[in-house]
Amino acid sequence: MRPKKMKILLIYPYWLEKRTDIQDVAVPPIGIYYVASVLKENHYDVEILNWCRINETPEEIEKFLIDKKPDIIGFSILQANRWGGIEIAGIAKRVDPKVKIVFGGITPTFLWKHFLTHFPEIDFVIIGEGEHTFLNLVKFLENPSERKIEAIRGIAFKKDGKIVRTAPADTIHHLDALPVPAKYFIYNHLSLTRGCPGKCKFCGSPKFWGPKVRFHSVEYFVDELERLYKKGINFFYFSDDTFSVDKNRVIDICKNILEKGLKITWVAISRVNYMSEDILYWMRKAGCIQISFGVESGSKKIRNLLNKKISTAEIENAFSMTLKYGILPRAYFIYGCPEETHDTIQETINLIKKIRPLVIHFFVLSLFPGTALYERYKEKEGLTDDIWLNKIEDIKYYETDPKLSREDVLTFGKTLRSRYHELIPEIVDAIELVDKKEFYPLHADFCSKLGMTFDHGDYANNDAILGKERIAEKLYRKALTYHPHPSAYLGLGILNQKKSAYHESIKILSEGIQYFPDNEQLNMCLGVSHMNIGGFKKALSFFLKFQHSKQALELIINCYLALNDVEKASIYQKKLES
Ligand code: SF4
Repeated sequence: MRPKKMKILLIYPYWLEKRTDIQDVAVPPIGIYYVASVLKENHYDVEILNWCRINETPEEIEKFLIDKKPDIIGFSILQANRWGGIEIAGIAKRVDPKVKIVFGGITPTFLWKHFLTHFPEIDFVIIGEGEHTFLNLVKFLENPSERKIEAIRGIAFKKDGKIVRTAPADTIHHLDALPVPAKYFIYNHLSLTRGCPGKCKFCGSPKFWGPKVRFHSVEYFVDELERLYKKGINFFYFSDDTFSVDKNRVIDICKNILEKGLKITWVAISRVNYMSEDILYWMRKAGCIQISFGVESGSKKIRNLLNKKISTAEIENAFSMTLKYGILPRAYFIYGCPEETHDTIQETINLIKKIRPLVIHFFVLSLFPGTALYERYKEKEGLTDDIWLNKIEDIKYYETDPKLSREDVLTFGKTLRSRYHELIPEIVDAIELVDKKEFYPLHADFCSKLGMTFDHGDYANNDAILGKERIAEKLYRKALTYHPHPSAYLGLGILNQKKSAYHESIKILSEGIQYFPDNEQLNMCLGVSHMNIGGFKKALSFFLKFQHSKQALELIINCYLALNDVEKASIYQKKLES
């Protein structure tokens, strides 16, 4: 069937503030892919635009819109990118006043009235899950005379100067009825569930998704993974609020990944009270390399105030089990909470010492629309959502609590970060992995990758962490006690080169090459070590195998020049230039 006439763009816009965590937020939410695939399934011409960085080249916005001439633009709006959406919507209306602007996502679901009251460029807001509602709206806009706009459930809009909200849309109970977005798109953020069993007071998820967690079937989820894997994706983010709510379902997924031979790695998010040895066993075997847990605070009192509903024992248990299986346990902590003091910060530090997370993200507690904390604040202060007319991403909790000062909260953050960085070497030293033979290759991989983090990854440029090369070396050596691993050999080879210990470097790299003779990096590195002790002929034997590589050709030329063989050097120079 030919595509229908309407041209639809779905845009993920840029944020208000410049981000340091750009990798974490640069990916459009999975929801935009579901909406787009429902439209595709109904033969609409739809395009997803990740415009999270287009503000770096704003002239492209107008040019693109003039060129594409969309009839409808849907925006995927989170709190931090709402101004980006408003700005792009304004440009779109200037380019073509007839274009219909639709806002959807978590923030518009809670601020629909605010958006329609203050921003004339927005024509419609989708409230709640958008897949069916957006499709119904598009059908209406295509043939407005055929039905009444009021009949479309789950939207808000302006009519005769008044804001109208229609009846709520039905919850999508049968998630598998949605088309698998991987049929049409390539992405690597997936979700198995909608909703969360938690009811944390700082989180908008419970109000957005409703009281029950809904699931895709094992078959749907594995089919999605397999389709993406066949399109070349082998690293995934499972971005569910709590991936492991249904233990048996997750174990089945893991068994399916293994049975189908999908060579993938993935990271997930969960709650500490939904973890157990058997689920971790299968998750690790099926490629899980990291689980993030919201711990929030070491103070029980604060966790209760935030309605976190997790015990210290559950936290300790989840972290030690996760690490034991060679999965990197990552913690989220929040500071600047109700009743926060230097003592509660010390409680958090004490908990960090016990649970030893290998990565922590510390956040200042902030209020967002749709959260219980925000609603309470509005009510207490007699405020309205107009507060979001300020160009801010969030409201810091300390701004609403006279018992907390900004300076104190900033000091809390600095203390937590610096204490954690001091603790990292002992946290790494204390790593103990489960002694199961079948896990040895996975343990080698875990230790090697962690070593790389200190050597040239995330932690490498962090001056607050001391002895990074020593930590990396220890991890590489630990990896090799489990199983040969190319990254461990390479890491040790490079570390020895840095210390000018070329003979040691040659020894360890030669050992590695016995296991991985075709590994290009090991060969390059070994050749370089030989060059450093004047062994140019020997070095050539490692480089000549990789003449497709620019680096190898350059090294070959250097070797022949060092051997005074100008003729051969010029042959390879010509190859390099061709
Ligand atoms: S913070 Fe996490 S656990 Fe708590 S309600 Fe939100 S998604 Fe669930």
